[in-house]
Amino acid sequence: MSVELFMKLKEIESLSRMRTSFELQNREHNARLSKLNDTRQEAHARTVKLRQEVSSANSALADIEVRIRTASEQKQRLFDIGSDEKKISSFTTEIDGLEESGLVLLEEVAQLEEELRDTKEFMSGLEKTILEISAEVNSDVAGVTIELSHIELRLSLLLNELPTEFSTLLVKTAAKNLAHGPFTRVENGSCYFCRFKISRTDESEIDMQKNLKTCSQCSRIFLPYGA
Ligand SMILES: [Zn+2]
Repeated sequence: MSVELFMKLKEIESLSRMRTSFELQNREHNARLSKLNDTRQEAHARTVKLRQEVSSANSALADIEVRIRTASEQKQRLFDIGSDEKKISSFTTEIDGLEESGLVLLEEVAQLEEELRDTKEFMSGLEKTILEISAEVNSDVAGVTIELSHIELRLSLLLNELPTEFSTLLVKTAAKNLAHGPFTRVENGSCYFCRFKISRTDESEIDMQKNLKTCSQCSRIFLPYGA
């Protein structure tokens, strides 16, 4: 085997790590935007609910007005026919009670409308923010996507040039997510990372013949001298 194959192996590993990091960046960019969209949906749902509350309070108010009018007419009728004071005053009490409920409802409507105005204002600010952030996110994502396509292209070229045993072993070893990466070297007759002793035969196969070998203790791939 040749040193070049190991150089390619290293480059593939480094490109794969870059790819993972770029993919993560894109996910983060998109998550930022989707969080803002969630907030917008919540605010929209809130305005729908507030409008419903305003409308039901207004129809309760209209109902109270009708009842006040009816009670006033009845009171006037009793008054006109010279009915007794007690009957008349029971209508007065009813009308007072209705007017009080009407005032409570009016206050409620005013509060709801204020909250509705605040929510609408918040939403229009949010729309502006979403526009700005989308522009930013779209341009970031576009940039990262271009980088990713370059990486993919280079990776596929490298993988084509590499014997299958190299790429298969790299995939298997990289999947273990070892600290400091999937590679090691022979240093003073031992694995550089785990200090596992390497026989002279193995050392010569790795460094001189450039054979593909892994450390039997930490399973990292040996890079030959010069790679
Ligand atoms: Zn080792």
